Amino acid sequence: MLKIEQNRLLFATVLGVVGFFINLYPIHLFANVQLILGNVAYVISAIILGPWYALYTAIIAVSGLMVAWDSLHVYFLFGIEAIFLGFARRRDIYALYANFAFWLILGMPGFYLYISLFTELPTTHATFIALKQGINGLIYASIGSLLIILTPSFWHFQSKVKDKQRRTFNTQLTYTFTLVITTALLMAALMFNNQFIERQQSLMYDAIKNTANNLASSTKAYLAVHSSAINNAAQWLSLNVHSDKDEQILLSQLHSNYPGFITMLMADSEANIVAASPASLLRKAQTSQKPLNIAERDYFIEAFINQRTYTSPLFLGKGFGNDPIVAISAPLYRPESPHQPIGIIEGSLDLNQFKIIDEIDNNNQNQFMLLLDQNQRVLYASEQLNLAPLSDFTFSPHNPNYISPFPLINISQNNNMAPEYVYASVSLDNGWQLLILNPFRPLVELVENMYLTTFAMLIVSLLIALYLSRIVSARLTRPLENIASKFSTNSDDAYIEYAVDEESPKEIYSLFHRLKQSKSQLIGYQLELEEKVAIRTIELEHANSQLKALAEKDPLTGLYNRRYAEDKFTAVQELCQRSDEVIAIALLDLDKFKFINDTYGHHSGDLTLKLVAKQLQQDFKRNSDIIVRYGGEEFLLIMPLCNALKIEEHLEHFRERLSQLVIDDQEDNHQFNVTTSIGAVLGNGTYSASLEDWVKQADINLYQAKHSGRNKLIFTTLKDTNVQATEPQ
Ligand code: GH3
Ligand code: MG
Ligand code: MG
Repeated sequence: MLKIEQNRLLFATVLGVVGFFINLYPIHLFANVQLILGNVAYVISAIILGPWYALYTAIIAVSGLMVAWDSLHVYFLFGIEAIFLGFARRRDIYALYANFAFWLILGMPGFYLYISLFTELPTTHATFIALKQGINGLIYASIGSLLIILTPSFWHFQSKVKDKQRRTFNTQLTYTFTLVITTALLMAALMFNNQFIERQQSLMYDAIKNTANNLASSTKAYLAVHSSAINNAAQWLSLNVHSDKDEQILLSQLHSNYPGFITMLMADSEANIVAASPASLLRKAQTSQKPLNIAERDYFIEAFINQRTYTSPLFLGKGFGNDPIVAISAPLYRPESPHQPIGIIEGSLDLNQFKIIDEIDNNNQNQFMLLLDQNQRVLYASEQLNLAPLSDFTFSPHNPNYISPFPLINISQNNNMAPEYVYASVSLDNGWQLLILNPFRPLVELVENMYLTTFAMLIVSLLIALYLSRIVSARLTRPLENIASKFSTNSDDAYIEYAVDEESPKEIYSLFHRLKQSKSQLIGYQLELEEKVAIRTIELEHANSQLKALAEKDPLTGLYNRRYAEDKFTAVQELCQRSDEVIAIALLDLDKFKFINDTYGHHSGDLTLKLVAKQLQQDFKRNSDIIVRYGGEEFLLIMPLCNALKIEEHLEHFRERLSQLVIDDQEDNHQFNVTTSIGAVLGNGTYSASLEDWVKQADINLYQAKHSGRNKLIFTTLKDTNVQATEPQ
């Protein structure tokens, strides 16, 4: 879905309008070749905003070209280009590369096809225009990209199209190189080519102007010579009276002096031909019995009636053959009638003589001569022009799209849009016109070759740029990568040191050394830290074990405390329950302990407690036995997995041994005995999971032991079905 954002739309519109105005005035280069720069607008739009906004910008900007060129194709060609650039942008392809591909694959072939199908330009010219359009495309694509790179903050846009993947430094550098080279090279090439071609054009025009003037002078001289020959002959003949035979001889003599005349004749006042040269023509003509009459001919009328020396336009001769001819005629008089002509003398110019004039200036193969009479008929045309003498000269003015400082003309009838000739013309006094035509095509070829050379140079330069930027970027990126890998791992490979060589830039070199320093500093800090952590860990472990002991043990006797007993009992009970074993619990309370304290002092009381604990540890030393100081002078024995038959006896022995133990407080010099009352129970593991239940039963027995006189053991088996089963019979 295309979501139109107002600020993007506004931006695209502004770009389009700017492009529109720039496109209204394309820079004229050569003939109909123009440099378009307004299309920079949609290149920017494609890079910043994406394909659809680019199309929108293109439609506005290209309308400027539509105004200038009046051709709808601009919308298609440049519209597709804009979309193409936009989509390439989405795929992270740089605009210039994309445009290069576009013109190579779509733009130039498409444009060429369009020109060939819909215009009447010759295909050679179409190639040239398509090539120019491609180069033009590269120019505005690189200008657009450069503008964005040069003024990054200007294009800062929240919602602009962003790169999907981070580009490498090498890619960025290569692209920048490419842009600069493309812009600089193409602009410079176009400028210089243009200047060169303009110079070339004016040289060529000067040359044809010179030729035209030279040939015009030659033509004038040729006409003047022949015209004065007729005139002089007429005057000379008018001085005397000649017989017809003499006239024929004189005429032949005259003709032999002026080979530029193809035929000559003399006519009488009746316009009948009386003498002709070559004489054979007259004899041949006279066999038809009827005298040849030229009363209708302009050259007779002008010379005889208007009495002047006359040069005729071109006309088709008759009588002496059907060749197109130009006649020069003058009136003939008699000495006795100097104002009334008695006939005329006439000479027909040999049109082939113009070929000799044409060949005077034959060193330039590309200059063609065309001589027109006062009726715009072809008197003479160079062979290459393919114009028959006497034909009406038709031409079409050149296409106004071709801008040239010199006159252009098309003489073939095929409505060719490309100009055929550059020409210079000179008008002669008698109304004739001499044109020198120079084909336009060689100029186009020259420009074409320049463009092709420029294109080839561009490609070579780009290849060099590609290679150069690789080398330059390698100087930065490779050491950076090496540094990164060196400092990320613990490797101390020697080759990495080598990678920061004398070619590496100063910044990289100092970065490498600073990082090296920091790394060794870091390693020092790390070692120090590790040492500290190790010491602290040992201290902590020690404190932990002390804490644990404090939490589990009674500090005075070193026996487990009541909380430990409660914790541990759960596991013990579960084990016995699972393996169907018995547990014996004994609660001990020292007899008349208050009395000991009171009589011998607190110190002796404490000593008593310690010795009782020691005795307990000696007598109950199974691993599974848990000896607990349960309260002040109360002890608890938890004896899982015990021998049910012997436990009572064992407790009894302990009671006796304790009563015989002499407590010797050497500090206070007291000696005394202590006894204990014991309440004990034996039960199956299943009896209860709570230590409290067991102690309660043992406490009942302890109570009985106290009441029955102290220093007693009361031992019972808990009434539990399972316990019953294990009870001795
Ligand atoms: P009975 O035979 O009925 O048990 O008499 P008794 O005096 O042992 O019982 P009582 O509960 O009246 O007295 C216990 C005395 O144990 C009181 C208390 O001061 C003493 N005692 C408890 N803990 C300690 C201890 O850690 N050190 C010393 N020295 N005396 C303690
Ligand atoms: Mg007590
Ligand atoms: Mg007591």
